[in-house]
Amino acid sequence: MGFGKPPSGFSSLVLEEGVLVPAMVNSHTHIELSWMKGLLKGGHGVHDMAKEMRGLQPPSAAEKRRLALSALKEARSQGTWFYTDTSNDPDFPGFLRDSVYFEGKNYFEILGFSSERSAERIAAAGKIMKEDNFLLPTIHSPYGSSPSIMKFVREHERDNSISIHLFEASEESMLPMERGRTYRFLQEIGQYERHDEMFQKPLLDYLFEQGMLSFKKILLAHLTYAGVSEIELLSKHIPHAAWVLTQRSNEFLGQNRKNWNELLNSPLTLLLGTDSLATAPDLSILNEMLRIRERDFISKERLWKAATYDAYNYLEIHPSRIPWFFFAGAKPDLSSMEAAEKIFVLRD
Ligand SMILES: [Zn+2]
Repeated sequence: MGFGKPPSGFSSLVLEEGVLVPAMVNSHTHIELSWMKGLLKGGHGVHDMAKEMRGLQPPSAAEKRRLALSALKEARSQGTWFYTDTSNDPDFPGFLRDSVYFEGKNYFEILGFSSERSAERIAAAGKIMKEDNFLLPTIHSPYGSSPSIMKFVREHERDNSISIHLFEASEESMLPMERGRTYRFLQEIGQYERHDEMFQKPLLDYLFEQGMLSFKKILLAHLTYAGVSEIELLSKHIPHAAWVLTQRSNEFLGQNRKNWNELLNSPLTLLLGTDSLATAPDLSILNEMLRIRERDFISKERLWKAATYDAYNYLEIHPSRIPWFFFAGAKPDLSSMEAAEKIFVLRD
């Protein structure tokens, strides 16, 4: 491939024909949900998915960990190496960091929209943050975390960074008006409560006022249903934010983006993710790129940047840490790489 600086010593290596690429970055996933692979029927958007997930019977903690490791191992064997992972289980990030298959950042997501639930979760999060110095506290979304959780996250931020699901649900922006599917979803699960901070405000104004968009690094997962004016506001006020596309997961949920051009022409940095195995078949960014190319949404040059150098820059991954993967026998195109039988890591 024609980009990047090859690893030192590369010129003295004798290799068969193949493709050498720097490691790929999965900028949005929830590895702890790997046990949900193939269990959801999908097709009905994010709120029905959440309800479906609540009905699943989880396996033991040991089995959850085994399935997570096997998902990581599979993605590593295709060149995916670094993750921005979001977890609700406080014990999971430590387990991931101990694994040889995981490199990355761990966001700890604090969920709860009603005041009662938020108070419980905030009390628990305070304790958890003391026990694990590497956890980066974050909110789930404007509807998944209340104003009091946002205040807690602002006060306990680490790394001056945040990862938020934003405009992932089709009628999310109508929540402050107490209308639409997101509002009905919160009512159905018994979590809706009117918060004065949010009531009748445009969603982005609310997030700005809560300080949720005042971070050095802002990962906005999805933006599927962000309107043109919302993309303009994000571009104007937080041009340094990143937008994380998880195409296969969006398709699984039956979500159709209409704003491709507005987002691709905006100053937001495009990054790639898979989301969890509840909605994606694997954690591989190579496979994610293949799907996006099949749909012809984004050029392959831009996708490679999003999977590698733009992600290293955005996530501040030092180049000396980045391994290179050799796809033996492959030609420099995604399907040939995907079909390569022998893929291995070249070390300095
Ligand atoms: Zn997600």
